[in-house]
Amino acid sequence: LKIGVLALQGDFAEHIEAFERLGAAAFEVRTEADLAAADALAIPGGESTVIAKLASSSGIFDEICRRGKAGMPLFATCAGLIFLARRVLDASEGQVTLGLVDVVVRRNAYGRQIRSFEAELEVPVLDPPKFHGVFIRAPAIEEVGPEAEAIAFLGTNPVGVRQGRIVALSFHPELASDDRLHRYFLDTATTG
Ligand code: GLN
Repeated sequence: LKIGVLALQGDFAEHIEAFERLGAAAFEVRTEADLAAADALAIPGGESTVIAKLASSSGIFDEICRRGKAGMPLFATCAGLIFLARRVLDASEGQVTLGLVDVVVRRNAYGRQIRSFEAELEVPVLDPPKFHGVFIRAPAIEEVGPEAEAIAFLGTNPVGVRQGRIVALSFHPELASDDRLHRYFLDTATTG
């Protein structure tokens, strides 16, 4: 399985390192030709408005949309989750998203004092211990629609979902030195 990591902006290098630690072949994706070589795509944290603008102007936006609808496995963290969401609250003006995941998210949802924080998360699809969640100006998942399933929780609030071969998280496992969610994504991608 060749894992492309969208490398327009954000912490794509950390995702590549995580996949490589797991023995997966991971490489940077910037163009449609790069994407064509990928079996799966990870969309990193960063700034969702910037990623959306660069993806639209490079023409890769439509191709990610097409491949995503056709079942390509997608792994998204933080800004990546926003980029995939059906609906974004507090979006910047004209901000486009792929609409591939049935969630409503709110950008920068956590208050000023706790814009960035770390917390132990309940992730029932993983074996113990709890997952150390790193949140950086994270979106909140305000609604999980019927197509998606919550797989990670901060208290009772969903902070991660799975929808078919898509795994999307509001936090940053790529910054947590814990590769279990990258491993979970690879398993999801290969077993459906
Ligand atoms: N707040 C950012 C956005 O709206 C996401 C932050 C992140 O990816 N760490 O895109």
